[in-house]
Amino acid sequence: MINIQKALDLVLSQKQFYGAEEVPLTEAVGRFLAEDIFTDRDAPPFDRVMMDGIAIQLKDLNDPLRPNYPIQGIQAAGAPQMTLKAPDHCLEVMTGAILPQGTDTVIPYEEVEIKEGTAYVKIEKAIKRFVHGQGSDSPKGTLVLQKGKKIHPGDIGILATVGKSRVEVAKVPTLAIISTGDELIEIDEKPLAHQIRKSNVYNLWASLLQEGIHAERHHIIDDQKVLQTQLKILVQKFDVLLLSGGVSMGKFDYLPTVFENLGVQKLFHRVAQRPGKPFWFGYHEEFNTKIFAYPGNPVSTYVNHLFYFKQWLYASLGNSWTFETKELGEEMPGCPNLARFISVNLNSENGRVLPLNHNGSGDLFSLAQTAGFLLLPQREGVYRKGERFSFITIR
Ligand code: AMP
Ligand code: MG
Repeated sequence: MINIQKALDLVLSQKQFYGAEEVPLTEAVGRFLAEDIFTDRDAPPFDRVMMDGIAIQLKDLNDPLRPNYPIQGIQAAGAPQMTLKAPDHCLEVMTGAILPQGTDTVIPYEEVEIKEGTAYVKIEKAIKRFVHGQGSDSPKGTLVLQKGKKIHPGDIGILATVGKSRVEVAKVPTLAIISTGDELIEIDEKPLAHQIRKSNVYNLWASLLQEGIHAERHHIIDDQKVLQTQLKILVQKFDVLLLSGGVSMGKFDYLPTVFENLGVQKLFHRVAQRPGKPFWFGYHEEFNTKIFAYPGNPVSTYVNHLFYFKQWLYASLGNSWTFETKELGEEMPGCPNLARFISVNLNSENGRVLPLNHNGSGDLFSLAQTAGFLLLPQREGVYRKGERFSFITIR
């Protein structure tokens, strides 16, 4: 049995770049950038009017304003730049318009009164210029989004602004999720007394969907021959297989033997951790297939997936998945033999987290109360109240 750090190192040693592809901007959210993004113009691209009002010439902001300014015309947003002909006049300007030539300051409508073609100013000095200067956010050629970044909705706006109607993103691996277990039935079937509906495949499938991956779902019965025949096909067809169940000590836990028979290279089986100890990980050299075989208990499956697979995936897509840390809200006895992922709740009062009472890794419904898992490393002494540990969010 190996420890959690060694297991993680072995998983990450299998990181794999699957190439890049171009997608329309409307399909890019949640994907990982495979190109650096630069501004193609100054931002803003022109001196942009920030308030609806009048634009005047006021070389020194401290100079007093004139009592009134006859209006020469209106500079609308989206109209070419106008020019102020006489410096004692003004132009009406709208937010988003280019600042007219010959003006430098905007007096908002709130501070003027307009009567018969003249703007009467109600203040003695301008408050500020209300001009968003050309290039003041980012000059042309600025690196605004870096290769490897996961594209969020705010980034989509940036990509649109720089004219990226198509975006180069990292290709995601093709992936199949395979449940094993003769007690499992489909969710629209009626369970007999000894049966349960499968949940892990849906849990994993949804988690992958959030990363932009549409995985195939499969089920294979607990029969060594059948497992071998079907996995042989799947190993060749997909980049990654995620399996749940069938890797523990039970009489029908055939997967480790089947993998061996199929020539899959085992990197480890069993990690000094709870839950999820029987986790099996390896790869098939010839078909370059990565295999994550999680023990079937729903919390074990999910924790392993969030901790190992997610870090592997992000590394493979040019990013890295890092965990925030949270303070433990109460002292707990140390655990020298195993690292532990404990289900915790957020305590809104002081931001610390508290362990949740639940019935172990088979208690799927406890996930509804869980904010995430705190990773407590192997240790002889106690885990101190207020001490910081990695927090694996499930939200
Ligand atoms: P195993 O790892 O195959 O020994 O399974 C451990 C426990 O997890 C058993 O109680 C299984 O019924 C349960 N289990 C396995 N796979 C799933 C699944 N896909 N959905 C829900 N529970 C599962
Ligand atoms: Mg099983």
